[in-house]
Amino acid sequence: MQELLMIPGPVTVSSDVLAACSKPMRNHRGPFAAGVYARLAERLKDVFQTSETVLTLGSSGTGAMEASIVNLFSPGDRLLALPMGAFGDRHIAIARAYGAQVEVIDTEWGDKPDPQRLRDRLARDRAGEIKGVIVTHNETSTGVQADLAALARARADHPALLIVDAVSSLGATDVRMDEWGLDAVIGASQKALGGVPGVAMIALSRRAWDAAERAQMPRFYLDLRKAKTAFGKGQTPWTPPFGVLLALEQATDNYSKEGRHSAFARHARFAEAIRAGCAALGLRIFARQGAYSNTVTAVCAPGDIDHKALQQLLRERYGVVVGGGQMKLEGTILRLGNMGAIGRKDIVTALAALELALRDSGIEVPSGAGTAAANAVFARAEAAKPRVAVG
Ligand SMILES: *Cc1c(COP(=O)(O)O)cnc(C)c1O
Repeated sequence: MQELLMIPGPVTVSSDVLAACSKPMRNHRGPFAAGVYARLAERLKDVFQTSETVLTLGSSGTGAMEASIVNLFSPGDRLLALPMGAFGDRHIAIARAYGAQVEVIDTEWGDKPDPQRLRDRLARDRAGEIKGVIVTHNETSTGVQADLAALARARADHPALLIVDAVSSLGATDVRMDEWGLDAVIGASQKALGGVPGVAMIALSRRAWDAAERAQMPRFYLDLRKAKTAFGKGQTPWTPPFGVLLALEQATDNYSKEGRHSAFARHARFAEAIRAGCAALGLRIFARQGAYSNTVTAVCAPGDIDHKALQQLLRERYGVVVGGGQMKLEGTILRLGNMGAIGRKDIVTALAALELALRDSGIEVPSGAGTAAANAVFARAEAAKPRVAVG
């Protein structure tokens, strides 16, 4: 049975992206590769909405999270973090591993950080001791999206660098690096851009590049100064995962053909359809209203149902692969991703399978309710589409 992959990364990729990774190997320091790096970097500038260089690293997204710490700070530096789930906690763990002193403004999982608390805390830091603020734009473990523009405004003119994990939002929702004054933006190939796993991306602001010259944390493989120097010569400092880069080049090509605003609308519509479908099946949406993610939906089934068993049933009996809960949410939620090369038909299929799996687990669910609710969202979106004038 061919599986329908609906986890929040790695995502289902289109056949042209898949074909791109199986092209013949090339000299990674030759002219062909230099062309790939240059074209890809140009496309990524558009995705990050920045005029700064977007660097690619041969790592998963976590490598760029680590790069955002080791390149900008020194051991003992005070950082302020606003985690709201497992990925926010991971960023803190990395900073602490390298000797940063991280102060945490906690947000209950399922909710998004309150920008006012950030504003107040920074206002009290008159001496400017806080060197960096770490935020997760879209928390993949809880299906919550933060209000990044509001958080950026709350940082105001405090000198702390604003570090943004945008791994599961870039490409799916607005990330205006330059306009919002973001100092480090982090992405990965296997999420909303629809590439295959293996490449992380990071862009730094001018201020962040200045900090990179002063930073004292140890770094070698992830030294962004090395990556930038190599990029200037049409190279990468080390052998890159070349097939993954070719796939990402194709994926970003597809993305730019679709257009940023269509891609944002697609992700919003798909996530809304999944929420509507799940709610109609009697599942609770884990995220608070107003904190919904455009790329991943975490849901809880009623009663004391074993979510791991439900996830297994979905996969084994119906071929639909969804995510489970991470860290303290293990066994308590399912996570449905809507990034990558999936369509309306796949979402409807996943909801139909979910209905069957719930019924198999002994839960009464109204027949066809999930697919009907999702289809209603699609129909509304279709009706709201501006008509192209003819003639
Ligand atoms: C996927 C993801 C990452 C990176 O995870 P990797 O497995 O290292 O690619 C980081 N942050 C968020 C929010 C993510 O969704």
